[in-house]
Amino acid sequence: MMKAPIGILGGTFDPIHIGHLRPAIEAQGTLGLAEVRLVPNHIPPHRASPFCTSEQRLAMVRLAAAETPGFVVDERELRRNSPSYTIETLIELRRELPDTPLCFLMGMDSLLGLPGWHRWRELLDYAHLVVSMRPGWQPDYPAEVASLLARHQSRQVSDLHRHRHGHIWLADNLPIELSATRLRALLAAGQDPRYLLPASVASYIRQQGLYQPAP
Ligand code: ATP
Repeated sequence: MMKAPIGILGGTFDPIHIGHLRPAIEAQGTLGLAEVRLVPNHIPPHRASPFCTSEQRLAMVRLAAAETPGFVVDERELRRNSPSYTIETLIELRRELPDTPLCFLMGMDSLLGLPGWHRWRELLDYAHLVVSMRPGWQPDYPAEVASLLARHQSRQVSDLHRHRHGHIWLADNLPIELSATRLRALLAAGQDPRYLLPASVASYIRQQGLYQPAP
């Protein structure tokens, strides 16, 4: 018996914000996702973000999940302690959840850059791709992405329930023009980030003194 699909959203989450959460909540509703897993990426120490530690990113993702019904945190990429490719995470999840359709969620910027990803052609052998609109990234697809879409795009929600992988869904989400980079700049300028991220995450940022203006 096929299970309901789950969503998987990988990211740096430095910090997590409404540009991550709103499209994922909309996908959850439109596609009937049984759960959305937030998967914080490991960032190699030599390219470490100057902003906050993995523990702090994880703490913020946990706070966001705690106030979002159906959202859970998957720590596997942080536990691995070395950068992991999405394909490896999807292979593991497929092994653990053999009868569950997997929907890998990403923004339009990620779809446009997909041909640069490790073993990108195999991603659809393990999951569906659910792509959210993101202001600033127009759907001007490079040839390889256009041909992938021609073969795999689906407009039927039922395709994502009846098959465990192999379809691409282009979401009609409310576009949110926010990036973590922009949010960090706003915080560094001493602005109040209220309504751009969960209130619990904003309090954590304040308590920990993250992304603050230089003294
Ligand atoms: P940064 O500005 O630090 O590069 P970011 O805000 O782009 O970060 P990431 O953690 O790199 O966030 O993104 C994780 C995933 O969330 C990616 O698939 C990305 O496309 C998606 N995403 C991030 N922001 C948005 C947004 N505003 N709208 C739609 N998708 C988004």
